[in-house]
Amino acid sequence: MHNGHMDENNSQYQPHPQRYESMQYRRLGNSGLQVSAIALGMWHNFGHDKPFADQRAIVLGAFDRGITHFDLANNYGPPSGSAETAFGMLLDSDLHAYRDELVIATKAGWRGWDGPYGFGGSRKYLMASLDRSLQRLGVDYVDIFYHHRPDPDTPLEETMGALRDIVASGKALYAGVSSYSPELLRQAAEIMDDEGCPLVCHQPSYSMLNRWVEEPTDTDGTESLLEAAADTGVGIIAFSPLAQGLLTDRYLHGVPEDSRAAAGKSLASSMLSESNLEMVRRLNDIAQERGQTLAQMALSWVLRRQGEFGEQTVASAVIGASSLAQLDQNIGALEQVEFSAQELAAIDDIARDAGINIWAAATRSKLSE
Ligand code: NDP
Repeated sequence: MHNGHMDENNSQYQPHPQRYESMQYRRLGNSGLQVSAIALGMWHNFGHDKPFADQRAIVLGAFDRGITHFDLANNYGPPSGSAETAFGMLLDSDLHAYRDELVIATKAGWRGWDGPYGFGGSRKYLMASLDRSLQRLGVDYVDIFYHHRPDPDTPLEETMGALRDIVASGKALYAGVSSYSPELLRQAAEIMDDEGCPLVCHQPSYSMLNRWVEEPTDTDGTESLLEAAADTGVGIIAFSPLAQGLLTDRYLHGVPEDSRAAAGKSLASSMLSESNLEMVRRLNDIAQERGQTLAQMALSWVLRRQGEFGEQTVASAVIGASSLAQLDQNIGALEQVEFSAQELAAIDDIARDAGINIWAAATRSKLSE
């Protein structure tokens, strides 16, 4: 129903004309940039391990459903870089006329290539990595360029200076950071404000089973990441809002062969412990009472209105999807993002930290400078 149109050769793509009618768009921090409340992430499912036709169906299906925000990184694949190459091919074959309707984000910080210049936050790495990303994507600029993780071995001023110069060069329109602690975010935001190139977003992991962004985690134990971001005007883009699939019906009755957990990648079997699955089952009951699937409730919850004036509210949830059916179901979350106080309390009562934040060590590696 939501799909756009292909001609008889399945080649000439026409996006769905009503694609902007049901999606929500939220302003990113203090910037003027609006992002779709649901973004499609390409960490998994866009490498050489998935047929290109399936990748094409998911990306074009997302655009047909009003998703304008696509999240990439230099190392997504496998192999590293192939997700950007795949997205570049889709830009070339189907989406070239719609470049101005897309927010394309990419990142560098985790291992991009061998040697000392393929990891971290040096000016040398970030500049070279973005050039490689632009080449794979076949574009002159990306919309958002992120420093992907804190680097304890590079001065923050150097990393921020590189982001500033990248924006000034026109190779990225906006700059962001990912997995920074509250204090490091404050310091980064201050440097970028002084440079006249404000950071527009922070991308942390966040889900009902991984709530570190709500907790006071700066060294004084007073400020949470959500508060630091709201106070500095930096928008929050939450990644892995479905806890890599744990917060869906995927693992309610065992481990399906085609699931991420079965693939032995980033979702370790230890994350499917009996205590975690018990939380998932109880949360699933609450979702059913709300008339949602668990995946939908998990997304509605991440996108719920937070803070007295809503300024701590997440702008966008970056999801993964291995099929168009999953994407369709997940977008349905936007029909019901409100929660009653009783529902929130019931969720708080069940949902505990599930030990799934595999990015915590990167955050801890540099808490402040
Ligand atoms: P999610 O938590 O959304 O998990 C996605 C996975 O959940 C899917 O691949 C699928 O797994 C399963 N799933 C999704 N919808 C459904 C559904 N309706 N029913 C059943 N199962 C479902 O996010 P990801 O962990 O994939 O991360 C999303 C994006 O966030 C990444 O692609 C990337 O862009 C970004 N990210 C950023 C990071 C950073 O450091 N900045 C780190 C990690 C992610 P299955 O394959 O089993 O079907």
